[in-house]
Amino acid sequence: MTQENIESVLIEKRVFPPSDEFRSRARIASKKDYDKLRSDANKDHEAFWGELAKTEIDWHKPFTTTLDSSRAPHFAWFTDGELNVSYNCIDRHLKDKGDKTAIVFEGEKGDTRHLTYKELHQEVCRLANGLKAKGIANGDRVVIYMPMVPEAVIAMHACARIGAIHSVVFGGFSAESLKDRIEDAGAKAVITADGGTRGGKVVALKAACDEALDHGCKTIKTIIVLKRAGNAVNMKTGRDVWWSDAVKGQADTCDPVWNNAEHPLFLLYTSGSTGKPKGIQHCTGGYLLGTIMTMKWVFDIQDSDIFWCTADVGWVTGHSYVAYGPLAVGGTVLMYEGAPTVPDAGRFWDICERHKVTIFYTAPTAIRALMKMGEEYPNKYDLSSIRLLGTVGEPINPEAWMWYYQVIGKERCPIVDTWWQTETGAIMISPVPGAVDTKPGSCTLPLPGIAADVVDEEGNSIGTPDKGGYLVVKKPWPAMLRTIWNDDQRYIDTYWSKFNGRYYLAGDSARQDKDGYFWMMGRIDDVLNISGHRLGTMEVESALVAHERVAEAAVVGRPDDIKGEAIFAYVVIKGKRPVDGDAEALTRELREWVAKEIGPIAKPDDIRFSDNLPKTRSGKIMRRLLRVIARGEEITQDTSTLENEDIIKQLRGQA
Ligand code: ATP
Ligand code: MG
Repeated sequence: MTQENIESVLIEKRVFPPSDEFRSRARIASKKDYDKLRSDANKDHEAFWGELAKTEIDWHKPFTTTLDSSRAPHFAWFTDGELNVSYNCIDRHLKDKGDKTAIVFEGEKGDTRHLTYKELHQEVCRLANGLKAKGIANGDRVVIYMPMVPEAVIAMHACARIGAIHSVVFGGFSAESLKDRIEDAGAKAVITADGGTRGGKVVALKAACDEALDHGCKTIKTIIVLKRAGNAVNMKTGRDVWWSDAVKGQADTCDPVWNNAEHPLFLLYTSGSTGKPKGIQHCTGGYLLGTIMTMKWVFDIQDSDIFWCTADVGWVTGHSYVAYGPLAVGGTVLMYEGAPTVPDAGRFWDICERHKVTIFYTAPTAIRALMKMGEEYPNKYDLSSIRLLGTVGEPINPEAWMWYYQVIGKERCPIVDTWWQTETGAIMISPVPGAVDTKPGSCTLPLPGIAADVVDEEGNSIGTPDKGGYLVVKKPWPAMLRTIWNDDQRYIDTYWSKFNGRYYLAGDSARQDKDGYFWMMGRIDDVLNISGHRLGTMEVESALVAHERVAEAAVVGRPDDIKGEAIFAYVVIKGKRPVDGDAEALTRELREWVAKEIGPIAKPDDIRFSDNLPKTRSGKIMRRLLRVIARGEEITQDTSTLENEDIIKQLRGQA
């Protein structure tokens, strides 16, 4: 392997300052205020976070130690303080905001529900008491396997209230994945539903639990089942109980358990990789602070906002920006149960119009999919309530960014491109929208108190603009993961060993431009090595998507005798997939296009057209699978998440 840095070939010149309209109401409304925050954090990292923790969190017992590095890299924050997250997200708002809507819910079939803070408090307390009655105690693990309904959030808070550690498993995962996660966590109970509705189909959740438990999961004593989809289920006497029965007769108050700030709040298994799932462990105090500060800095949340993050609670985004962050700041959060295409591709915009959504946060995969459907859908709706747009999960291609900015935001709304990970707990690199100019495709600058940098193989700062390297974080931050559940060594090996315990290794490659802006270039594992030049996948993909006929693209490397690796591109076209002569002509055109856009070195050697790209359950492109296909190897990965098996044939070029 070469020691060369990762080269950048894509230069984006467009810059968008925040509009005066946005700035006039923003919490941080000038570059000056923002710079002051960043310099305060730089001056005294610990004191900066300590001060915020004091003012932003209601402590039952105040902390005296801000940061404890004695067990590094197992850092601990606010160690001797005591608090409860559910208290901070709900109880502390009851006096002033008891009748304010905490959660707005819309089911796929169009049913809606509003829960006030008072109602949410009662529901959480009743379930918390119900869990206690089932013998669930402080520190026990509870797996939550639910559709996107308010009860999923209620279940998370009920656990947090009594100190039980929840592990939410995405409702789209199979019985097998559920079983692995239950067993790794050693969970005592599962909270689930009969089924959820998505894309007009019922997902039989309880049946999957039964299957998982038939093959193991010996630690599970209780399954609490919410009636949601109305599909038939088997209930095992002594083990299974309907949610309505579990809360029947339970008091609607429940004293929160005051836990130490380092008490684990939840485990969350990461989405993409094969192999043994990694239980990312988050804590109580530092995590809460991370979600609060990012709700304020990044989303500029105000009392009147209707905040919609489209992520499922099965992902970290659904934890930090559905279940916890918006409630911790006393906001109103919208939850939608179903698919974005039911009854048609206008559903998201219809919801935005009807519920007067002001902040909309989604993933590039959704943006590209809706972009492919055409402008006529968003154009049918009044999107004037929206004031801020956000994106997370993958690098957003400049073309998709521009579409989002123009067609959805009508050039009024700033876009916050937020880089972070399950491991980081909260957003790390993102524009502060009233203060930082945005550039399409860049997540801009690290937030105050986040010491992100790009370094070379030896761990030295790259320094030179537009030279790529490893994305690292050089100082601990409160919301960081504490360890991998039951596997401290894997935590150290995965995140800390590369730079001898000095820096947190994110696993992504990135570059900084002359203004210090960060540009994500793809995963380190996916870096292409073409004739000794190391290229990130992101830039070649963005160049392809910039062509008017291309909707989505993924590139991988395949071995090449002369160049080391050759670039293999999978391309999805707007409209019908090209075949024969059209495919040949378009292949030639796209190769020339990429050569012209970013240079001959990045010209794809092979281009294959398909109707779709393989995605993980969280909507990310499975480049590992594409690499296997490009090399003509046998597929050993789990492909059960693919929308249709035929796509594999297409990707192989056999259909
Ligand atoms: P696994 O770790 O199991 O492979 P995953 O990394 O996809 O799963 P997440 O923690 O949800 O799971 O995703 C974090 C990753 O997503 C980041 O490391 C980065 O590669 C990508 N990512 C997230 N947000 C952005 C963004 N705004 N720009 C670029 N990449 C992003
Ligand atoms: Mg990851």
